[in-house]
Amino acid sequence: MALIKDDAVILRRLDYSESSQVLAVLTRAHGKVRLIAKGIKRSTKSKFAAGIDLLDIGHLTFSARSVRQEALATLTEWVQSHAGAALRESLDRLLAAQYAAFAAAELTEDWDPHPKLYDGMCDTLRMLADGGRPVSTLLVFQHCLLHEIGSFPILDHCVGCQRAIHSDGDLYFSSLDGGALCRDCESARSEKYAVNRATLALMNEPEGDGGSAMAAFNVFDYHLSHLMGKPNPLLRMLKSAL
Ligand SMILES: [Zn+2]
Repeated sequence: MALIKDDAVILRRLDYSESSQVLAVLTRAHGKVRLIAKGIKRSTKSKFAAGIDLLDIGHLTFSARSVRQEALATLTEWVQSHAGAALRESLDRLLAAQYAAFAAAELTEDWDPHPKLYDGMCDTLRMLADGGRPVSTLLVFQHCLLHEIGSFPILDHCVGCQRAIHSDGDLYFSSLDGGALCRDCESARSEKYAVNRATLALMNEPEGDGGSAMAAFNVFDYHLSHLMGKPNPLLRMLKSAL
């Protein structure tokens, strides 16, 4: 059994038995890993003394029979460095953090490392805990996630005819085609989402000025839903909490 040390964010947590929990964590160097934390619920041992909460960031040690195994790895030590509880002061920021955790858990494979996604997830959680605006913070996260999983759309030219996007008029985005569609090409597509140029610009540069963060967030959410094959279940609650 190899003992592995890594940094991690807790993405999912499920009670498994009277005393144990199953966790899905996003680690920095090993990607998403599923772990069993035995004895955590009644433990007063120092290794889990602070408990483990959803959206916590910390350092962990776990044992795995071999890397890339289907079997659950076993958590042996957890030292929290940033508490997910800091997000609970505001419902919209908590739901935004859960939205990001759900998307990362759905769209990454076990044992497939994405250090930049890990860093992006930590930045997102810290910014939200520090009072960052939920939609613009999530927009930056969506941008990072799509790049890291290799599904970032083409936004500077039409994916149908390859021409640069000039018109300020009707434009569309297609998730299946993976990018922007001009007026000439959109009519042949049934799967499409109306966008404008300012929205496309903000999707490309989520920290830029101009355009509505919500409009760009909505298009990325539409694309992510297609990639996941289902809507993000946090979306409706997040929107009603904003
Ligand atoms: Zn076109």
